[in-house]
Amino acid sequence: MEVETHCRNCDAEPEVEAEAESLPLALPKEPPTIHRLDECVVNRIAAGEVIQRPVSAVKELVENSLDAHSTSINVVVKDGGLKLIQVSDDGHGIRHEDLAILCERHTTSKLSTFEDLQSIKSMGFRGEALASMTYVAHVTVTTITKGQLHGYRVSYRDGVMEHEPKACAAVKGTQIMVENLFYNMTARRKTLQNSSDDYSKIVDMLSRFAIHHINVNFSCRKVGCLTNETSRFMRLLKSRSYLGFKVASDRQSPIVQTISKYR
Ligand code: ADP
Ligand code: MG
Repeated sequence: MEVETHCRNCDAEPEVEAEAESLPLALPKEPPTIHRLDECVVNRIAAGEVIQRPVSAVKELVENSLDAHSTSINVVVKDGGLKLIQVSDDGHGIRHEDLAILCERHTTSKLSTFEDLQSIKSMGFRGEALASMTYVAHVTVTTITKGQLHGYRVSYRDGVMEHEPKACAAVKGTQIMVENLFYNMTARRKTLQNSSDDYSKIVDMLSRFAIHHINVNFSCRKVGCLTNETSRFMRLLKSRSYLGFKVASDRQSPIVQTISKYR
């Protein structure tokens, strides 16, 4: 288990990362006592399940953008998503009055009653994704709704706003920045730092979204990279709908490999 730093929302002592192999093998004579975990520990463990690696965060953010009826979704990634994941869309935005509870667990605009589940059409509904991100990263939301003269920007930690939303210039829709992913889960961060394939996982996942949402423009870019690999990639993917599979003649290219998963 990888819960180790002090939580700002409770008085729990910092938990030390337990390495199973390093525990002494002494067998307890008495059964160990059972206690309730602190809420902040529960939340961080749950967050680590929802957001397992950078690509899971991108998936959740893109699903939210699609649920917000966006026609354009732009992703920017730094250090495979560990330093920065930024998803910007041109969707309906988030109301100012909802920003206070936006990143609390189980807050959603997509479900009210259990019966709603029968007819739900959105990709998300559990109200856990944004909350989870705030327990394992620093999250900043900039958003504007139709008819507003300015947008709002607010940062979140551990499910709560760090300050009142600040008025700011904004373009239509919502931009969500997730910085320093797993800053408080050292073991997981280390494992991911050694893995070089997170960016390609993100690109692969976006291409799958692009296949299913041909009316939405997707792009993905690495910070510091001038070329926008995915826009080229996506254009090719979309040409599939107009020109058929023959358009991609190179059998070794990632586009053919991705498309073939959907044949
Ligand atoms: P869920 O998608 O399951 O409702 P999330 O934590 O992913 O839970 O998001 C919480 C709520 O925040 C959503 O129900 C939605 O109302 C709002 N939201 C999140 N991202 C966006 C976005 N990009 N545009 C508009 N609203 C958003
Ligand atoms: Mg969601």
